[in-house]
Amino acid sequence: MHLETNFPLAGSNTLALHATAKAFVRPSSDAQISQALDWARAEGLAVLPLGEGSNIVLAGDLDLSVLQLATQGRELLKQSEQDVLLRVQAGENWHQLVQWTLQQGYYGLENLALIPGTVGAAPIQNIGAYGVELERFVSAVHGIDLVSAERFSLSAKECCFSYRDSIFKQALRDKVLITAVDLRLSRQASAELSYPALQAALQERGLCEPTPLEIFSAVVALRRSKLPDPAIEANAGSFFKNPQLDASQFLRLQQQFPQMPSYPLLDGGAKVPAAWLIEHCGWKGKKSEGVGVHPGHALVLVNYSAKDGKCILNLAANIVKSVEQRFGIRLEIEPRVYGAETGSP
Ligand SMILES: Cc1cc2nc3c(=O)[nH]c(=O)nc-3n(C[C@H](O)[C@H](O)[C@H](O)COP(=O)(O)OP(=O)(O)OC[C@H]3O[C@@H](n4cnc5c(N)ncnc54)[C@H](O)[C@@H]3O)c2cc1C
Repeated sequence: MHLETNFPLAGSNTLALHATAKAFVRPSSDAQISQALDWARAEGLAVLPLGEGSNIVLAGDLDLSVLQLATQGRELLKQSEQDVLLRVQAGENWHQLVQWTLQQGYYGLENLALIPGTVGAAPIQNIGAYGVELERFVSAVHGIDLVSAERFSLSAKECCFSYRDSIFKQALRDKVLITAVDLRLSRQASAELSYPALQAALQERGLCEPTPLEIFSAVVALRRSKLPDPAIEANAGSFFKNPQLDASQFLRLQQQFPQMPSYPLLDGGAKVPAAWLIEHCGWKGKKSEGVGVHPGHALVLVNYSAKDGKCILNLAANIVKSVEQRFGIRLEIEPRVYGAETGSP
């Protein structure tokens, strides 16, 4: 196993931010993972698990051992006429997994096509898109406790999944390395078409009863038309979570801004698109310090030429401030921040 020191991370995060890691290693087997963890412990270095770096902001150098899992493997654990249980290794690319499951006739992940990143990172924020969240398919998450070095398995319930959140962003934050995820997928197609933009795209294609493959293609086309490709315009996808308002907060805002879009929540409150709030504060297309708000999608912050993650965090902090002043809503940032004193603007 090859271990590098003072490793440059600019090519390992989709915002293309410059920072170095004290140590960097890419283990591709269980034995190599143990070796890497033993080495970091002996050196007194904390370990930072890294996937494809599509949901992080590097705001300074990391006095850490960065461990980027390169483990590969998709195993069929169980099957019945209705469904299959798969174990997928953490280093697998998420989109390639989605493509492969559809080729095998295992359905459910089609709405989650083209989300960047690895399988190991997917449970961290319970990835979601087009009306579907990962939690629907998770049977178990396997990993290693970074302090005790003990292996653990958590059921979906124990992962405490919610909107862009899980136990891995709360009680187990920075404490575990996820090594594999068990997913239960259906052998019968069952379309999830509740998301209006997806419905409209399928209707445009004349598809009333779309197959999972047709949904997959529509999602891929929609994402390509809406989201900038990080390889061309460095970004971390949606930079802010959509705020969830309780019923009284929502009613107050709706009276003030009747044109504000919203999605009802079960408790009487509503989820409001952060993009709409940001756009209505005039941020769409604005640039400064080599960073800016994407002209086509107000939720995406783009790094045009900055090296320092603090430029992105300054922009985010200014956006948070103006949205709070205008709407009384405090936006929360979605990516994890590393190398800075504070975790969020
Ligand atoms: C263009 C674009 C579009 C996106 N669209 C969506 C979307 O539609 N829906 C959505 O939910 N997200 C979206 N994202 C965010 C991102 O794709 C997901 O959060 C993804 O799961 C991150 O995977 P990663 O491997 O890049 O994780 P990284 O960015 O490398 O890591 C993210 C966090 O997970 C931790 N982590 C990574 N791997 C492990 C592991 N094996 N064990 C323990 N912790 C780990 C890291 O320490 C870090 O805290 C988008 C991002 C981009 C750039």
